[in-house]
Amino acid sequence: MKKNSLTLSLPEWIDDFLKQYQFPLVSNEERMRFVLKLTLQNIEKTTGGPFGAAVFERESGQLVSVGVNVVLNQGCSAAHAEMMAIMLAQQELGTHDLGIADLPEFQLVTSGKMCAMCLGSVVWSGVSEVLASAQPEDVENIVGFDEGPAPADYDQQLEKRGISIIPSFLREEGCAVLQRYVELEGVVYNPSRNS
Ligand SMILES: [Zn+2]
Repeated sequence: MKKNSLTLSLPEWIDDFLKQYQFPLVSNEERMRFVLKLTLQNIEKTTGGPFGAAVFERESGQLVSVGVNVVLNQGCSAAHAEMMAIMLAQQELGTHDLGIADLPEFQLVTSGKMCAMCLGSVVWSGVSEVLASAQPEDVENIVGFDEGPAPADYDQQLEKRGISIIPSFLREEGCAVLQRYVELEGVVYNPSRNS
């Protein structure tokens, strides 16, 4: 018998981390600082790569889900922070489409602008806005991860599908978090795939 189901889990410290916060988080600054803290925690607890994300109700700032990169400890190349946050939001709300009319609009907040895979995932997810901190070139230059073949007209591809993007938001703070991963000698997986 081959495996016919799968489970992906976030690290155990997530619940305790969330208890330190009171939701909703009203401003974009609060939401991004929350995600950067979450990312820093993933780095310092050595539970995964230097990336974090969360899905919020866009207007109210109510938290729907969080995600951190758990590629190594879950043995899954798709387990990026944005993928985890989006999939968990869909589980939480019981739908594959976060864009349906009877739900509020949702915002994905991410510590780094999506890689090629997560960009696709955002497009299919139904979120209506993306707030991103570090740029793909920051991730590549500071840490050395490959962000993959994302299109040059990245932002326009999202806008074309009705998804707004606010890139480079608190970018310096996002870069400082990436820097911390380097200081702690975090693993850069798939190094041979980097060009
Ligand atoms: Zn990704």
